[in-house]
Amino acid sequence: MNDIIISQPFHGLLEKEGRSQSNWGLSRSTKPAVYVEPISYADVQAVVRDAQRFPSPVNPVGSLLSVTATFVNDGGTMLCTRKLDDIVGLEVDRTGRQIVRVQAGCRLKKLNMWLQAKGVEIPFQAEIGEATVGSVAVGDTKESSLDGAGYFSAHVVGLTFVDDKGELRTLTDDKDGVEFYEFKCSFGLSGIVVECQLEVRPATLCRSDLSIEVFQSPEELAQGLIVKHEACDALFAVVFLHQLASFMDERYKAGLGSVTPASSQPACDEFRIAKRLAVQRGFEGVEVPQPKGLVYSRHDFVNEYWRPSADEYRLDFQYYEHDISQLTHVIVETYNFTKDFEQQTGFTPNGWATYFVHRPEKQKKPFGLYSGGPGISFSFDPICSNPVDPAGNSSRSNTINWRFTCLAAMSLRSKHNGCSLGT
Ligand SMILES: Cc1cc2nc3c(=O)[nH]c(=O)nc-3n(C[C@H](O)[C@H](O)[C@H](O)COP(=O)(O)OP(=O)(O)OC[C@H]3O[C@@H](n4cnc5c(N)ncnc54)[C@H](O)[C@@H]3O)c2cc1C
Repeated sequence: MNDIIISQPFHGLLEKEGRSQSNWGLSRSTKPAVYVEPISYADVQAVVRDAQRFPSPVNPVGSLLSVTATFVNDGGTMLCTRKLDDIVGLEVDRTGRQIVRVQAGCRLKKLNMWLQAKGVEIPFQAEIGEATVGSVAVGDTKESSLDGAGYFSAHVVGLTFVDDKGELRTLTDDKDGVEFYEFKCSFGLSGIVVECQLEVRPATLCRSDLSIEVFQSPEELAQGLIVKHEACDALFAVVFLHQLASFMDERYKAGLGSVTPASSQPACDEFRIAKRLAVQRGFEGVEVPQPKGLVYSRHDFVNEYWRPSADEYRLDFQYYEHDISQLTHVIVETYNFTKDFEQQTGFTPNGWATYFVHRPEKQKKPFGLYSGGPGISFSFDPICSNPVDPAGNSSRSNTINWRFTCLAAMSLRSKHNGCSLGT
């Protein structure tokens, strides 16, 4: 049978100039033949169905924040979801859960503000407010959640997407089991997400004690992290490994609520702004205050970032996942590696973002990070402030390269460590 070519109108923005697009950190760029911004699900279907106007591959993007080459699509069609960003509303699903239905291009900050105003939340409240729901629903993420898994897709219970034939399809956890869970690990390769259903719960407050601690040895540093992790409800740390020091955010549950109490201001906002600047600049030359007993709504700490210019310090990082049983081993080995590398090149990462994530049963996370079956993982992610520094992060130089050498060392030295790159 001959293929039927279906042509249908496309109403959104359409550019065919072959303009170059870059990611947030200006470390990658791509020249798609066509760039489109659909304004309806029918527009997305029209793009997929008409390979003549919209050359393959068609790759969806949201805010182009990814630090890897995931969005690179030279000669293909870049489909940006930024105008599909409605929050449809709260509802109760067939299994009795309260959910929010939201379009794929909605940014996390917009979603968090909307949920906060309704007095509900999803437990995942990442730093990055500009990542889009569609991207993080099918990719790997991390944060130290209070009473939650610590990765965004854990809260996705339903997805509507356009498949390779241009059909609009919906998958849910209760009806589609395996297919649904596999789709959530697809990084956009199984279809273009246009809408998500996320389980929500009544909003809660958090209490944080912030500190910077200094240690005598990598073993002592690892022990310090283990003790803090056990003592609080969720721990987030930024380890300054070469200095044997760590910023610690010990989080505790502080009851129901969706608004930061006035008694925690202005300390709360002062801390938020300092932390945001530190993240924006990849922890380069920024001091973060260390208040204690700060009670706040975590919605407020989902931040917006400006697009940096090429001469500005700007965050870049890599994802590494390890089982918590490996924490001391990873820190000691990485410390030794970092010191060796520093001696050879003068380069060290500015810090290592350390999140603790609860892994579900294998069936619910079959691929990618956190797919090792039940347990606790921690991320140990090197942070840099210049993604095109040849020693640190770029793969286009003859000098010794951090990313490459670190990956090689990790896989040679420890076969127990999960080691993955994310979006
Ligand atoms: C300053 C900064 C801070 C960050 N902080 C964190 C953090 O705290 N925690 C964390 O986990 N991550 C963090 N990240 C990483 C960020 O969450 C991811 O890069 C995320 O994917 C970005 O979303 P995006 O909309 O920009 O995706 P894009 O870069 O636009 O797209 C990435 C990929 O996602 C897929 N995709 C996008 N939209 C869809 C869709 N509708 N359907 C199917 N697939 C799709 C495609 O494969 C696409 O190539 C941070 C990044 C930066 C730059």
